[in-house]
Amino acid sequence: MTALGAVLVDAGGAAAANSEPWYRRTYRWGQTNITEKDPMRYDISWWREFWKRTRVQGVIINAGGIVAYYPSQFPLQHRAEFLGGRDLYGDIAQAAHEDGIVVIARMDSNRTSEDFFQAHPDWFARNSGGNPYRVADKYVACVNGPYYGEYLPSVLTEIIERSHPEGFADNSWSGLGRDSICYCENCARKFRDKAGAALPQKNDWSDPVYRRWIEWSYARRIEIWDLNNRTTKAAGGPDCLWFGMNSGSVSAQSRSFRDCKAIFERAEMVFLDHQSRGTLGFEENADTGKLVHGLLGWDKIAPESMAMYQAGRGTFRVASKPAAEARMWMFEGFAGGIQPWWHHIGAYHEDRRMYHTAEPVMRWHEANQTYLINRRPLATVGVVWSQRNTDFYGQDRAAELVDAPYRGFTASLLRARIPYLPIHIDRVERDGANLKVLILPNVAALSDAQCGAVRKFVANGGALIATGFTSLCNESGDARDDYGLADLFGAHFTGPPGAEHSISSQTLHSYLRLDPELRAGVPGPHIAGEPPIAARRHPVLRGFEETDILPFGGTLTVSRLDTGVMVPLTFIPPFPVLPPETSWMRQPKTDIPGLVLNGRVAFLAADLDRLYSRDNLPDHAALLANLVRWAANGDIPFQLEGRGVFDCSLYTQPGRVIAHVVNLTATGRMPVTDDDLAPSPSLTLGVRLPAGVRARVARMLVTGKTATPVISNGWARVVIPSVLDHEVLVIE
Ligand SMILES: [Zn+2]
Repeated sequence: MTALGAVLVDAGGAAAANSEPWYRRTYRWGQTNITEKDPMRYDISWWREFWKRTRVQGVIINAGGIVAYYPSQFPLQHRAEFLGGRDLYGDIAQAAHEDGIVVIARMDSNRTSEDFFQAHPDWFARNSGGNPYRVADKYVACVNGPYYGEYLPSVLTEIIERSHPEGFADNSWSGLGRDSICYCENCARKFRDKAGAALPQKNDWSDPVYRRWIEWSYARRIEIWDLNNRTTKAAGGPDCLWFGMNSGSVSAQSRSFRDCKAIFERAEMVFLDHQSRGTLGFEENADTGKLVHGLLGWDKIAPESMAMYQAGRGTFRVASKPAAEARMWMFEGFAGGIQPWWHHIGAYHEDRRMYHTAEPVMRWHEANQTYLINRRPLATVGVVWSQRNTDFYGQDRAAELVDAPYRGFTASLLRARIPYLPIHIDRVERDGANLKVLILPNVAALSDAQCGAVRKFVANGGALIATGFTSLCNESGDARDDYGLADLFGAHFTGPPGAEHSISSQTLHSYLRLDPELRAGVPGPHIAGEPPIAARRHPVLRGFEETDILPFGGTLTVSRLDTGVMVPLTFIPPFPVLPPETSWMRQPKTDIPGLVLNGRVAFLAADLDRLYSRDNLPDHAALLANLVRWAANGDIPFQLEGRGVFDCSLYTQPGRVIAHVVNLTATGRMPVTDDDLAPSPSLTLGVRLPAGVRARVARMLVTGKTATPVISNGWARVVIPSVLDHEVLVIE
């Protein structure tokens, strides 16, 4: 039995019977990430008031690991330098429990001070030279040693017995990252027992032993996850759960051996550590929320640590992030089903502006939480991702080979205001039933079974868009003789060995020819007397009537095509840029296909998704959106009219639809302040109504306005007067 028991006094002070376990009903979180200095200056009564003001229902409190904030019986668990005799963690935990707030004990359990290393030198990770791996003055513990297997479980048990937290979150739980191989005695012995081989000597993706080491390393993290949960449940009861922190970035997860699918599917909730946008836009956070919920389930929660300090481009732990920058990240999180969690580093700040950032957002969240959880997404377009592809095809170039095509395609969907869902490759069969279009953005590594699931989706009437080298490799990243999905594509690989990895990072001076059969490379303007081009061209080329070419930037190799396919785009090989006198096409027309259409299957060998993410050419985004609209054949349940850039997400609850519209028009790639946000003009939103939604009224949860939807042909249309940062429409 935890300290909160079954009757909860919520943060607002009202007693409420609640039979749901804490991890199903704790929607708003706060974390003051305590520094070693803070035992001298942590003002508990001030922070209690702050919890109340920001409506938090759960707090994450530093307990142990690298630094202990309580007087532990384990002498080698380094006590905070200024802890004195204080039990700071215990005092804060007690205050939170008195306020009816859920307590998560925070661990950071992958390093120790030197005295620990001297006492247990065989518990620590070693490089090939036998020297310990160090981060600054700390020593990195090995995941295969007794530190993880015995010591940490006893620390968890001690914390539970002292303070009865509802659960645990661990910051760096997964140990040494993928870039470093540990050669300690424990690793050497365990790997030999498992794989029958010595540890790999270096990172070499072509080495079967290295691949086994990758899989073995993933499996160990899951063992640790399960061990820690057995420990906390045994000591603290069935709802006392342990959670490792996870990133929303799949390639970041890969670098830390965190198996997204295994973790998100076994967890009761997910604590996300993805604190702010990187080089991408705010939309990254909505994508993360949808990706996580796709495996976790939409009935569970995924709170995310959101930095109130300056994080991202340059880190300033004790300076305020611009409020608009922090809030836009939070709003995009809500659009993806993420719950808010303010995060401050340190308990005392001279830059007090950060204390005002979260409060209005948290209060808005509390007032509208009903509409922000337990929703079912309504998108008909799925974008497939696979961590196995990130690892075994992306290898050490995953950002370019895997992330860029995914980001490029989803960015083009955002610009076209087409809601989509990230779909894990092994959930295609389960989730495909609700989808009309499946997009595989350069998902090169696919097993035969995964190809089979895609084939089944198409056989059931689904449309497919595959780009780049999709399905050319097996699940280990080894190239097949032909695309695994060649039968669907109507196209066969005839390129040189290794083509799938020899993608140029440079923007080449190459082009694509539109509808080569019709125009046949005839130069000059439109010929009088001809039927309009728009009437003769394929709909995927809509909007390009005044051009016969498009900039490309990549390269293509010959494919062999089946009969009966259509080829609306062919490759024009690179020609000189400089000097201008030489900028003429040496080979204006080739038979090398850029796009192959076979029924409702589009094979876009010209990887415009990857290139759009790099070069940001609007033509590429427009062509990708055209492909999706053609593939969906009218089955996209959402429209938004009006100028600007908006990220749109659509959900349903019984009797209502919920639409998030986040205004990204002026947010660009630079940090934004309130002054940078630009209110949108009036927008007209259209939603195709699911069965059981009557749409009598549309309420705008941000501005508080209401409107009467206009109903026609099963669609509801609503005029939104303006969106400054975000708007959430509830139509019921
Ligand atoms: Zn080791």
